Amino acid sequence: MSARAGRVDAELRERELDALIVGSPINLRWLTGFTGSNGMAVVGPGVRRFLTDFRYLAQARGEVADEWGHAEIASDLLARAVEGGLPARVGFEDDHVTVRQRKRLGEAVGEGVELVPGGGVVEGLRLVKEPDEIERIRAAARVADEAFREVVLEGGIVGRTEREVALDLEVAMRRRGADGVSFSPIVAAGPHGALPHATPRDVPIPAGTLVVVDWGAQQDGYASDCTRTVATGELDPRDRAVYDLVLRAQLEALAAVRPGPLGREIDAVARAVIDAAGHAEHFGHGLGHGVGMDVHEEPRLSKTGDAAIVAGHVVTVEPGVYLPDQIGVRIEDLVVVTGDGHDVISSLSKDLLTVS
Ligand code: ZN
Ligand code: ZN
Repeated sequence: MSARAGRVDAELRERELDALIVGSPINLRWLTGFTGSNGMAVVGPGVRRFLTDFRYLAQARGEVADEWGHAEIASDLLARAVEGGLPARVGFEDDHVTVRQRKRLGEAVGEGVELVPGGGVVEGLRLVKEPDEIERIRAAARVADEAFREVVLEGGIVGRTEREVALDLEVAMRRRGADGVSFSPIVAAGPHGALPHATPRDVPIPAGTLVVVDWGAQQDGYASDCTRTVATGELDPRDRAVYDLVLRAQLEALAAVRPGPLGREIDAVARAVIDAAGHAEHFGHGLGHGVGMDVHEEPRLSKTGDAAIVAGHVVTVEPGVYLPDQIGVRIEDLVVVTGDGHDVISSLSKDLLTVS
């Protein structure tokens, strides 16, 4: 953690900031190790301050390193954070602070301190994962994969409702150690699968169609994300062809994941395959996104993904084809970018699996 604060110091120097006030729970956890819901840190060259409220004091003493000074408690974190003065140019997380909080912040720091938007400082550093972070993402993915094997592949889904299957996935992940889900699982059969972000319904899953399952675990501070589309029996040849197309797009895009290309260049690989098959308008979302402490973070593998991919990024590769009122297919792997290529974290087969 202490190395992380040092990386923040270096980034602040680049931006000519003397300190940064960090209050968003995920950034705070990455920076200090604190897992509670209410805390605040002031970080910068020569500045280490951490505060929380009464409920979390004992926890903070266990989680937050001594370099932050002993965790202080305060009912008004902001008032205490600025007590004793702040340096001249202080950044704040403008992407997490409300208009009302910004107003209070201005009043609290008083004259002589310039508040500067400092959003993205911590998020930017979080993009390149440390080996220990990659291990945690792998562990979350493992739990999610095991839950899928148990609930979908072994348990069978035909005749059960989408909502039951989604709930079982959630429980199976938690039973294996997940703290929760990284997002509410999507289980969408037949025409419902044509909605990329479908909500599971109280409707039994029929035989002879495709079912999109998109789920992930949140464990130890890190998220996983995976999608598989399974068949529930004999398929219409058109559905099979769509599956094969999406798989081909997924594999070609995956092969392009390595340090160097921009996010949009990898997106374009999958899009070219799907466009050539006449389905351009049926692939309406980006190819993938970064995954870390947040399930959706930078970098984006999409038409607007202008950041270059570097080693240590963890991204999804998830093309989809959605035929309105008919079916949807999406295949998503979680991938870590290595020095010369990538490692696929997801362990589940991408051959079209038929489940009962
Ligand atoms: Zn997903
Ligand atoms: Zn995803």
